[in-house]
Amino acid sequence: MGEKLGKKWEIRFHGRGGQGAVTASKILAEAAYLSGFEAQSIPFFGAERRGAPVMAFTRVSYEAIHERSQVYTPDYVIVLDPIILDAVDVFRGLKDGGSIVINTVKSPMDFQFEQGSLLVATVDATGIAIKNNLLVAGTPVVNMPMLGAFLKIFSHIELETLEEVVMKKFGKNGKANVAAVREAYESTVVEKVRGSGKPSTEDVRRKRAVTMPVSTPSPGVAGRTRFWRDFRPEVDYDVCSNCLSCWLHCPESAIQRVGSRIEIDYEFCKGCLVCSAVCPKKAIRVSREVVV
Ligand code: SF4
Ligand code: SF4
Repeated sequence: MGEKLGKKWEIRFHGRGGQGAVTASKILAEAAYLSGFEAQSIPFFGAERRGAPVMAFTRVSYEAIHERSQVYTPDYVIVLDPIILDAVDVFRGLKDGGSIVINTVKSPMDFQFEQGSLLVATVDATGIAIKNNLLVAGTPVVNMPMLGAFLKIFSHIELETLEEVVMKKFGKNGKANVAAVREAYESTVVEKVRGSGKPSTEDVRRKRAVTMPVSTPSPGVAGRTRFWRDFRPEVDYDVCSNCLSCWLHCPESAIQRVGSRIEIDYEFCKGCLVCSAVCPKKAIRVSREVVV
C-alpha cells in the first residue's frame, strides 16, 4: 500500500465540440471510481459551438482529490481529433515519460515533440466510429473508441469495468459503443518514441497559433477550418434549385454566391454538414474525407 499513497494520474482530453470529450472524461472517472479509485471529471468549454476546440480533464487517485483546477502537467493526453494538432499545442505540459493517445491513421513514429520520450498510441477512432454507426447528425463520435485505446496504455481500469459503464450510459446504443471500445483497444498501436528534447520549429509555430477561434459570420475568422472536416459536402448542380438555404445557414460563411449559383469554399468549410441537413432538394452529397 505504501507506494500507492499519493499516487495520482492526471489526464487531459483535447477534442472539438460534438466529439464527446466531456462525456469521455465523465465515463472514465466513473469507471475509475468503480475500480476503487477516487476520481474527478472537469469540463472546459471555449467557444461553445460545434467544431470548436474543447478540453476536459480527469483525475484518478488512490486518495481524496482536493484540486479543482484544470490539468496543466498531465501524465496522459488523449487527442480525439488529429486536426486539433494544428491549432492547439496538445503536448504542452505533458510530463517527460508520459503518454499520448491520438485518433489518427498515422503511426506513433510520425509524431514529434520536445519531451525526451513519450509512449505514443495511435488508433483510427474515426474509422471505428463510422464502422459501428456512432454518428450524431452525420458526425463520427469518437469518444468511446478513444477510451478503449486509452485502456491499452492505462492498466489500472479493467476493460470490462469500462464496458459496464458504457453499457449503462448509452442504453440501446450501448452494444455499438462497447463494440467500438473493444475494437479500438485491440487495434491501438503503441510505441515508445524519443523526442527532440527541445522545441522544434513546428512546436514554436503551434504555441504562437490562436488556440480558441472566435465565431463571427465571415469566411476565415476561425482559421483554415478545412482541416476540421471528416466529411466533404458537394453540390449536385443538376438537383440544386439555388434556393440559398445552405448559404443562409452555413456557420462559417463558406458558401458563396457566384454568378447564378452557390459554391462551397473548401478552405473554410469545416464539414459540419449543416448545409446538407437544411437542403430541401437533398442536393448536397456527402463523402468521407481523410486528412493525412
Ligand atoms: S459548407 Fe456545409 S459543411 Fe461546410 S461549413 Fe458550411 S454548412 Fe458546414
Ligand atoms: S440548399 Fe440545396 S437546393 Fe438550396 S441552394 Fe443549397 S444546395 Fe441548392
